[in-house]
Amino acid sequence: MAKAKYGVNTICTHTGEIKDEQFGGAVSPIYLTSSYPFMDVDVKRYPRYFNTPNQQAVGEKIAALEHVEAAIPFASGMAAISTTLLAFLNQGDHIVLQNEIYGGSFNFVVEDFHKMGITYSFTDGINVADFEAKIQPNTKVIYIETPSNPLLTITDIKAVADLAKKHGIITMIDNTFASPINQTPIDLGIDISIHSATKYLNGHSDMAAGAVATSKELMDRIWHKAKNLGGNLSDLNCYLLERSIKTLGIRVERHNSNAQHMAEYLQHHKAVVKVYYPGLKDHPNHAIANEQMHGFGGMLSFELDGKYDAFTFQKKLKLIKPSMSLAGVESTILLPSKTSHALLTAEQRKAVGISDNLLRFSVGIEDVQDIIDDIEQALK
Ligand SMILES: *Cc1c(COP(=O)(O)O)cnc(C)c1O
Repeated sequence: MAKAKYGVNTICTHTGEIKDEQFGGAVSPIYLTSSYPFMDVDVKRYPRYFNTPNQQAVGEKIAALEHVEAAIPFASGMAAISTTLLAFLNQGDHIVLQNEIYGGSFNFVVEDFHKMGITYSFTDGINVADFEAKIQPNTKVIYIETPSNPLLTITDIKAVADLAKKHGIITMIDNTFASPINQTPIDLGIDISIHSATKYLNGHSDMAAGAVATSKELMDRIWHKAKNLGGNLSDLNCYLLERSIKTLGIRVERHNSNAQHMAEYLQHHKAVVKVYYPGLKDHPNHAIANEQMHGFGGMLSFELDGKYDAFTFQKKLKLIKPSMSLAGVESTILLPSKTSHALLTAEQRKAVGISDNLLRFSVGIEDVQDIIDDIEQALK
């Protein structure tokens, strides 16, 4: 497709598609080949080189959505995150990471970096001064995640990007919660945007995938690491991901409006003591969110009043499913105190702001009244 200035939903629908030269079909054919010629060709194709037709097709779509030159799909979000970190960190290097990051990313850093002689610092907060305080002469990467999980804090993307530029440091963002529909961090000066495509990009809770988007120059370094680590996405799943992204724009629009509606409803509910959603005017970082996001997303958290037991409430829900994962078309809910933060003591959880009655809510695309009705019957 010609690289004109298309709107976001046109990009979702068309960019990257493979033309079916043989039969003129409307959608990209799937090429399952793992064996391509090596003689007299411009590109030596191989699945683990991340350059099969279906890998390139979905990569082109994601790059266009992220407003950047290049993107490649990975087999999972963690394959994308680990590969990208290792592409820019060597023995003796240091990285500054935001204090609140996805559990898997946190585990990779604290369990494996010391073996490779890479040192790290987590920030004490999310203000730009908190990042600046941790920079060392050997800091090579600053890593952020916004909105964060599960408290939906908002980091000032441009402020962190500007700080990093001043020091010649590469910046990476986990852009999973926002999706490229709600946030285009490359426009704000971030170097590399990473996704768990298992979440909004795919959006149907039926596969795992990841993606990295950046400039051609930086992608070259990531690609060299990627082919050694081998976290490539299969061509069948590339096809599924390409198909899913066709509806990303309209799905996210609906996630945004449902989540805004639910956040306001919960905020005024007498069974709820606190709601965390960047779209609420009283969210502590609402102004920054409003500036840097195109929509506030489908994720929110809320704390039930002590009169209720969140675990029992969750079991009484009929439509909203208790689930570890998030960002599907269906509404799902999770208790961080029993899952992602179960290994901490109640005291430690309290210190990071996660009460035992906190629920993380991935608001789906259902009719919002049905979601409300489900919550009402569960509270009874
Ligand atoms: C799920 C998730 C990941 C990890 O992705 P996988 O596809 O499970 O490997 C990373 N970051 C965030 C914010 C996530 O929600």
